[in-house]
Amino acid sequence: MTARPRPRDDLRGLEGYHSPQVPATVRLNTNESPFPPPREFVERFAAAVSGIDYHRYPDRAAAALRARLADFLGQPAERLLCANGSNEVLQTLLLAYGGPGRRAVVFEPTYALHAHIARVTGTAVVAGRRGPDHTVDADAAAALVRDTDPAVVFVCSPNNPTGTVEPRGTVEALAAAAARVGALLVVDEAYGEFAAWSALELVAEDAPVVVVRTYSKVWSLAAVRLGYAVAPRWVTDELAKVLLPYALSVPTQLAGTIALDFVQEMRGRVAALVEERGRLFASLAGRPGLTVFPSGANFLLVRVHGDSHALWRALLDRGVLVRDFSRWPGVEGCLRVTVGTPEENDAFLAALDAALPEVIA
Ligand SMILES: *Cc1c(COP(=O)(O)O)cnc(C)c1O
Repeated sequence: MTARPRPRDDLRGLEGYHSPQVPATVRLNTNESPFPPPREFVERFAAAVSGIDYHRYPDRAAAALRARLADFLGQPAERLLCANGSNEVLQTLLLAYGGPGRRAVVFEPTYALHAHIARVTGTAVVAGRRGPDHTVDADAAAALVRDTDPAVVFVCSPNNPTGTVEPRGTVEALAAAAARVGALLVVDEAYGEFAAWSALELVAEDAPVVVVRTYSKVWSLAAVRLGYAVAPRWVTDELAKVLLPYALSVPTQLAGTIALDFVQEMRGRVAALVEERGRLFASLAGRPGLTVFPSGANFLLVRVHGDSHALWRALLDRGVLVRDFSRWPGVEGCLRVTVGTPEENDAFLAALDAALPEVIA
C-alpha cells in the first residue's frame, strides 16, 4: 500500500470557485455582455486565424496587441501586461507579490476570486469590511493596511457584486496607505468602462497602483479569455518574469488587437447598457419589497425584503436566471441581476412582477 500524494496542506478545505450554471432562457447571472461583438469583427478574426503560422510559437511579448492597447488607453506599452483573462492577471500579481508569509487585504463583500487566488498562491487573506452602503471607509481601510502590513491590497471598483464605485479620494487614500507599507494597490476594474471615473489616471511610475481590466465584459469577448494590467514598468517587469512563456495564444492576441478596431461599437454597447441600467434601476426602485443599490457596472444588486432565495427560484421557474447571493455575508437576502438586452430586461421585470407577490409578505 503506497500513500496517495497529498496536495499542499494549506489547500485543504479550499473550495473551487463555483458560479452555478443551470439552463434558463434569459441568462442574467454572470455579467457577460448580452451583445455579441460586431459581425465584421468575427469575420476579420476568422480570416486572421486562418492565416496563422500554426507551427510557430506566438510573440511572447504580445507586442502588437500591447502597442494597440497602449494607444487606446493613452499609456506606454511598457505599462501593459496581458494574460488569459483578468483572473490570470490577478494570479500573476499574487505569484509575484504574494506568497507564503505575505498578506493580501480585501474589502468584503467583494469578488470572491481575490481571496481565492490569494489562498491558492499561499498568500494569507486579511478581510476588511465595507459599510452598509457597500463603500470602503477610507480611514478604516488605511488603518487596516497600516496595522496588517500587507503585500497586496485589492479594491474592486465598480465592486462585484454590489456595483459600488469608490470615489477617487478613497482610492487615493488606499494608494497612499499602500505606499506607506510598501504594498501594491490592485484596482480591479473589470467593469471600469461602465463607471464615471477610472483609476487608470492614478497609474504612474512613482505610485504602487495597478489597474486590472478585461475583454470579458465591455468587449463582449468572454469566450476569448483576455485581460490586462496597467501598472508601473517596475511592476510589469516583475509580472513578465512570472507569467509562463508564450502564455497568450496567437488567436487570443489577434482577437484583442482586432477588437480595438471596433472601439466605436464597444462604446455604443456600453452606452446602451448604461441606459438600460438606469431604466432597470428606476423600475426596481419603484417596486415595494425591494431595495436596489446604485451601480456603476453592468449589473444591479437588489435586496429582497422577504425570501430572496424563493424569489431566485421563482424567477428561474419563469426562465430567468439571476445570481443568488441570499446567504453571502454582507449581501444577505440579495440577488444580482446582469443588465441584458431591453427584451431580456423586460422578461426579467415581467417574471419579477409575477413572482414577487409569492415571496413578499
Ligand atoms: C468578471 C470579472 C472579472 C473578469 O475575469 P476574466 O478572467 O477577465 O474573465 C474580473 N474581476 C471581476 C470583479 C469580475 O467581475
